[in-house]
Amino acid sequence: MKKRSKKKKTSKAPKVLLHTCCAPCTTAVYQDLKKTGFDVTGFFYNPNIHPYTEYEKRLLTMKLYAALANLKMVYVDLYDIENFFDIIFKKKDKRCLYCYILRLHKTAAYAKKHGFDCFTTTLLVSPSQKHAYIKQAARIVAKKYGVEFLYKDFRKRFSEGRHMAKHMNLYRQRYCGCIYSERDRFRPACRRGQVKHL
Ligand code: SF4
Repeated sequence: MKKRSKKKKTSKAPKVLLHTCCAPCTTAVYQDLKKTGFDVTGFFYNPNIHPYTEYEKRLLTMKLYAALANLKMVYVDLYDIENFFDIIFKKKDKRCLYCYILRLHKTAAYAKKHGFDCFTTTLLVSPSQKHAYIKQAARIVAKKYGVEFLYKDFRKRFSEGRHMAKHMNLYRQRYCGCIYSERDRFRPACRRGQVKHL
């Protein structure tokens, strides 16, 4: 009598490429995606972080976190700030939109080239980021490269992520990244909203 061969179930976890803006924002998002069954790979490309010493600090923190959390990573360590300034120059109140497009453009292109099922970004966890612009930027690049944008509002996980980063003793920056955001964070008149730079 012939033995019936049992068919093995091959249910592969969907592969997501996660653009990571920094380690603290990655913590809770990575855990969330893992719990939902995704095979996660991080993608670091952030020429918007100034000055270089600050960029280096965030990059090293990302590497430290990835090692501790066992997160696969791709680093595009170009630091092409000329490109960044070319793109955001004179964009005024839309500066962040173009900054997101630049970073997610690289992410979506990589996701497409390397066969990921979708891409997303840790920018979606921060209540300080311009959420609507992130969605807009991601949809533009998703269409351009024909790769799915995985949208999820991670903002409810923000405090959890901050706690995790604190617990792991990770460096936590106090401004978004570019020199404009550094000025707006630390210049007293900007903090009080007395100066509008558009
Ligand atoms: S504030 Fe943040 S998101 Fe906006 S342009 Fe600067 S670095 Fe980019």
